[in-house]
Amino acid sequence: MKPAALMKLWGNTCAYCGVQVWLRTPKFGKALASADHYWPRCSGGLTSKHNMVLTCAQCNISKGGRDPRDWLPEEIRQRVENKLLELSKDA
Ligand SMILES: [Zn+2]
Repeated sequence: MKPAALMKLWGNTCAYCGVQVWLRTPKFGKALASADHYWPRCSGGLTSKHNMVLTCAQCNISKGGRDPRDWLPEEIRQRVENKLLELSKDA
C-alpha cells in the first residue's frame, strides 16, 4: 500500500505527530509521506486500509516494527484506533 492511497483518508497529516506530509519533497525528513503498518507485520498486522496509517518518514523510522502500545502515548493510540475503526466501517 502506497502513501498516495492514504493521503486523503488521513487528511495529508502524520497520524502520530500531526505534521503535514507530502508525497514528494526535496528533503527526506519529517515532511515526507510514508505508510506504516499500525500493528506491525511481524505481529500479524495486515496490509489493508484497516491497519495502514499515513505517517511522516521520521515517525515511521522511529516506530520501526514496534507494537504501538510500546511506542505511542495512550491518547494518540485512541485517536488512531478510532480512525482505523471508522475507515473499516466505510469499506
Ligand atoms: Zn510524524
